[in-house]
Amino acid sequence: MTKIAVLGLGAMGRSIALALSRNGHSLTVWNRTHAKAQALASDRIVASPTVARTIAPAELVIVCVLDQTAAGQIAGDFPDMSGKVVVNLTNGTPDEAIGFARRLDRKNARLLSGGIMAVPPIMGTSDALILYSGDQHAYEDHLPTLMALGSAQFMGDDLRLAPLNDLALLAGMYGVFSGAAHAFAMFRASGRPAGELAPLLKQWLGAMIETLDEMAAQVDSGDHVTGVVSNLAMQAIALNNIVAASRDLGVGPALMVPMQQLVAARVDKGHGREDISGVVVELLDAPAV
Ligand code: NDP
Repeated sequence: MTKIAVLGLGAMGRSIALALSRNGHSLTVWNRTHAKAQALASDRIVASPTVARTIAPAELVIVCVLDQTAAGQIAGDFPDMSGKVVVNLTNGTPDEAIGFARRLDRKNARLLSGGIMAVPPIMGTSDALILYSGDQHAYEDHLPTLMALGSAQFMGDDLRLAPLNDLALLAGMYGVFSGAAHAFAMFRASGRPAGELAPLLKQWLGAMIETLDEMAAQVDSGDHVTGVVSNLAMQAIALNNIVAASRDLGVGPALMVPMQQLVAARVDKGHGREDISGVVVELLDAPAV
């Protein structure tokens, strides 16, 4: 069996260590606050007080801490990593994935970036999806072990691809949660329970999500007009109505105003015949801040 080290034992790192242990793996673990490592110690899990001692016996080193600053600090202390594969499952930006690799320059590690599309309680089940990118041979060598964490998907040999996919998926998720939060606030402000709206909202979002392939095709082709049935000029009025009704109800429009403004800007520039996909052009044209 592969010798594994897990660095970072917060909610996610702990679930990773336990999922590997449940799968019959023996591992060494480290956490900045050593008590969390000690609490996990068992027949299969050895708690180590230093990073160096934790990774010394390991072929596979999993890093899962709060952010890439912490991950980079830990990697900066790595000794020569010949023969080891490092999997950085810490959430971060694509550029940070490259920064992490630079911390390992000349340390001879084979490296994978990861994106965890799961919450701690489902780690180790097939509902957990973990995205990987980087050294494909390292991925293939350790896939049987990584499968203990959940479903695995290799995104390509560019280390930035796993975090790019991770953050893009999270962006979609937060968009849905933003809309749902606003919709529930409108209901509560009207004296109605959010639970009354939830079934209809799920049904509606399910139907709308079916249009994403078409939207992606519009974005990729650059044709935002052919076959449009819900043009932006019309949608701008619906967004104005959402914001006006929210203000009438005493609901803060903070989550809706950015979309309202983007659509209005697109219409003002003469693109009112476009589909909602035209908003992507507006985002790409916006200066980076
Ligand atoms: P927690 O807040 O539960 O744990 C944070 C971990 O990071 C702890 O082990 C903490 O150590 C460690 N840490 C923080 N700063 C440092 C530092 N400077 N040096 C060393 N260690 C440090 O977070 P999670 O475990 O939930 O998240 C870990 C990663 O997993 C994050 O990147 C997160 O985005 C990702 N993730 C989490 C999900 C979740 O639902 N929880 C879902 C998907 C991904 P200490 O115990 O000493 O504070």
